[in-house]
Amino acid sequence: MDTLYLSADNKATASIAADILKKGGLVALPTETVYGLGANGLDENAVAKIFIAKGRPQDNPLILHVADPAQMEDICHDIPQAAWRLAQAFWPGPLTMVLPAKDIVPKGTTAGLSTVAVRCPDSDLTRSIIRLSGVPIAAPSANLSGTPSTTTAAHVLHDHNGKIDAIVDGGACRVGVESTIVDLTEQPPRLLRPGGITPEQLVEILGELTVDKAVTAQIDKDEVVKAPGMKYRHYAPKAPVVIVSGSREAAAGYINRHYEKGQRVLCFQEELELYRGCDPLSYGSEADPASLSAGLFDALRQLDSSAVTKVYARCPVGGGIAYAVQNRLKKAAAFQIIDAEVEA
Ligand code: AMP
Ligand code: MG
Repeated sequence: MDTLYLSADNKATASIAADILKKGGLVALPTETVYGLGANGLDENAVAKIFIAKGRPQDNPLILHVADPAQMEDICHDIPQAAWRLAQAFWPGPLTMVLPAKDIVPKGTTAGLSTVAVRCPDSDLTRSIIRLSGVPIAAPSANLSGTPSTTTAAHVLHDHNGKIDAIVDGGACRVGVESTIVDLTEQPPRLLRPGGITPEQLVEILGELTVDKAVTAQIDKDEVVKAPGMKYRHYAPKAPVVIVSGSREAAAGYINRHYEKGQRVLCFQEELELYRGCDPLSYGSEADPASLSAGLFDALRQLDSSAVTKVYARCPVGGGIAYAVQNRLKKAAAFQIIDAEVEA
């Protein structure tokens, strides 16, 4: 099939995209986090197409995207006050809430769970497409399963040109990492994935927050987890990634000593000159962690396109959005971390 390219400037884009979704087609949609691969989230057959296009394991549930907080009631029951408070504070925005699912939500969307993940994205265009389609839109990140997420229309076309019905080009994604996910079916609520809404912001509204083990450590293949998707290898370029932690000087010393031809260094803008002989690539400025989240997946994709044998990566420290960047990089590195302060 030909993939229809729909520009954000075209006045007909929203209604064309909504029509395709209503008919059960796949449309890649821009959001502030990453591009999503959208389908009617209440249509089992449409949702099945997402899993096929991405090569996504069947037990990895999808997030349903709504046009406004009120639409939560179409798909969730027993919505706690905390959910309304979070929606009021952070929607539209990069926050996903896990809530009890109504029977109207197909098992294909929830991967058989009794809960469903819901988010209201901060793109006026995407919200009007959802509103016009009349249904919640299931939309996982539009990348092929396991590979770095899609933060530009070019990334989506690279992975899916000719295999999906349409793409809406809304430019590069502002946040650049997937939404924060918080499970509100537990008390205290549980952080399942860090993202653009920080743990600090959640605690301000919720008071308490548990951080799931999957956020900070590798989950064993056979382990039972809250969301099965969390145990899969994620975000990774083909070459192995190793995080080198420690001071700027210690890390540069370690990497320069161990670097071999064919390897790359993924570092901060501020560090480029320390790695002159090591084929460095910057993904943003350490002084501006939001630039790191916005640039991470594009950089990981660039590292994928050449014959790279190994990637030494520099990871920001601290909370806020840097916490989400740490999580994605650690997953890309399968939690392989070398401390340059102690290793020679
Ligand atoms: P993505 O592929 O980036 O859209 O991420 C979707 C992720 O949301 C999944 O991999 C799960 O980790 C999480 N998720 C979706 N639905 C649920 C749910 N009902 N309970 C817990 N986590 C969920
Ligand atoms: Mg994903």
